[in-house]
Amino acid sequence: MSDAAERKMQFLYALRSKGVTDSRVLTAMEKIDRGPFIRGIFAARAYEDMPLPIACGQTISQPSIVGLMTQALQVSARDTVLEVGTGSGYQAAILSQLARRVYTVDRHRRLVREAREIFDALQLTNITAFTADGSFGLPDQAPFDRILVTAAAEDPPGPLLAQLKIGGIMVLPVGQSDTVQSLIRVTRHDTGFDYDELRPVRFVPLVEGLGRD
Ligand code: SAH
Repeated sequence: MSDAAERKMQFLYALRSKGVTDSRVLTAMEKIDRGPFIRGIFAARAYEDMPLPIACGQTISQPSIVGLMTQALQVSARDTVLEVGTGSGYQAAILSQLARRVYTVDRHRRLVREAREIFDALQLTNITAFTADGSFGLPDQAPFDRILVTAAAEDPPGPLLAQLKIGGIMVLPVGQSDTVQSLIRVTRHDTGFDYDELRPVRFVPLVEGLGRD
């Protein structure tokens, strides 16, 4: 077996052993190579199940957490999805394989520009990336079937709850930024919201306003 094939097998094995069992999610993660989303000295570690530093002091999430969050979101092929926290663009690329349309926003212009370059190179034409404060959602594109937030807020931001369709699902980490947070799933019903706590996680904080770069 080639080194690349062996690496891919180990990558998928690590995902399964951490509970990523949804076959559509595994297929998407097999297809989208994490390598191009990591630049510089950490690129060699792209296939390890660990978070890694990216530009602007941010991190690309651990692949098994990307898999578990994507699985919890229960995306279907007709869905319009909003991701808050583009970062490297890796999570958005995985979502693009499962959804009809993906909108992703980050407060750092540079991250959005670099992620767009990768989406173009990979011809992921159903992703649109914006520079914006994602805690306000995207009023012009709302409502969404699914919302995934990849930075931690103390509580689910009100505008995101308001931009979720009835029957829609939002997955997000909540809690203080310097401690362990909880990954929760919010489901919107016609009369309100249901909250499920999924697991402890650790994400960078959701920060107000735009970044300097
Ligand atoms: N999903 C990313 C990892 C995200 S790291 C990936 O697959 O690589 C969290 C990201 O959230 C960071 O890039 C950070 O800039 C962004 N972020 C933090 N607060 C934000 C806000 N209010 N609006 C938009 N993006 C925000």
